[in-house]
Amino acid sequence: MIETKLPKVATTIFSVMSQLALQHKAVNLGQGFPDFEPPQGLRDALVQAMNEGRNQYAPMHGTAALREQIAIKTERLYGRKLDVDAGITVTSGATEAIFAAIAATVRAGEEVVVFDPAYDCYAPAIELQGARAVHIALTVPEFSIDWQRVRDVVTPKTRMILINSPHNPSGAVLSGADLEELAAIVRDTEIVVLSDEVYEHIVYEGSHESVLRHPELAERSIVVSSFGKTYHCTGWKVGYAVAPAALSAEFRKVHQYLTFCTFHPAQAAFADFMASNPEHYLELPAFYRAKRDRFRALLAPSRFKLLDVPGGYFQLVDYSAIRDEDDLSFSRWLVAAGGVAAIPLTPFYAQAPGTRLLRLCFAKNDATMEAAAQRLCRL
Ligand code: PMP
Ligand code: GLN
Repeated sequence: MIETKLPKVATTIFSVMSQLALQHKAVNLGQGFPDFEPPQGLRDALVQAMNEGRNQYAPMHGTAALREQIAIKTERLYGRKLDVDAGITVTSGATEAIFAAIAATVRAGEEVVVFDPAYDCYAPAIELQGARAVHIALTVPEFSIDWQRVRDVVTPKTRMILINSPHNPSGAVLSGADLEELAAIVRDTEIVVLSDEVYEHIVYEGSHESVLRHPELAERSIVVSSFGKTYHCTGWKVGYAVAPAALSAEFRKVHQYLTFCTFHPAQAAFADFMASNPEHYLELPAFYRAKRDRFRALLAPSRFKLLDVPGGYFQLVDYSAIRDEDDLSFSRWLVAAGGVAAIPLTPFYAQAPGTRLLRLCFAKNDATMEAAAQRLCRL
């Protein structure tokens, strides 16, 4: 038998919980995906792109039209002018961008600082390079970063600091002051910042503090985003990475042999749709705020305690008033006996946190939220 390269990795919790949801006919609020369709105009544009013959390889770094739209959006929202040719790479989802960013910059023996709970693809990508993930737990219940702890773990071996805002699973958002702390830590070092901003358009108060707003950080950062989150099409797997030219060049050395290019018809569709519907992402906060508030109102009579949701489309709930058991056991009980699939937080930690929290996805139609809430309020 082959010796595993990833001894700590089992099947991702998202697949596990979706499978259990099917098996138990549960309402699936686990894996994060909308149960409503992408805009009709976007779907039409995809079909049109296929019918017009955009079916062969796209340019390796993405179509010019889509990169142009990404640049327009970035300047409009974050005031940063991107190099359309050398600074933007379209990828097969943010997942590919994260892997390529790590593979392109992190060497064996180096260290990457990640904040737990950390999205589950980070640590395996780091460990496959022969590097080490240095885990710092976010403070609970705010899920904020204690920057002194970061200063304490940074050494000459630190190659990367990986941040995620709005944060999955908590929805916490980093502030301008957080970015200043980060900038002070990485100044005069060789540290690359990888900023996972896939929920960049889902921030409920104020505006998203993208690393791209921060000139000093942007000079040493790879920023990744995902069209799946923004346009309700997680199954299309299209994302992108923005980085200065020199970092982008390294990033592309991996991307070109990982996937070479990304699904061409979708690139054409996003470029068309972004040009004709620039308001789509501006409307997302109101769209998801209504869902968040509806979901919270539905759960108000339950015995779950609701944590604040500053961003993203997940609600964390504390279930300690219902059962005293760890989150892995509780989520298995909940899907089987309660008829609702949720995501426990333990798989996103290097060391089990011992918290009594579950993640519920509210990117759902009213009927789905109501069916779930009815079940959750019975417990
Ligand atoms: N990062 C975070 C924080 C995510 O939540 C997700 C998926 N929802 C991804 C990356 C991956 O995005 P994609 O589906 O575009 O690969
Ligand atoms: N990002 C999604 C989530 O957090 C899941 C993506 C996946 O299933 N790999 O739920």
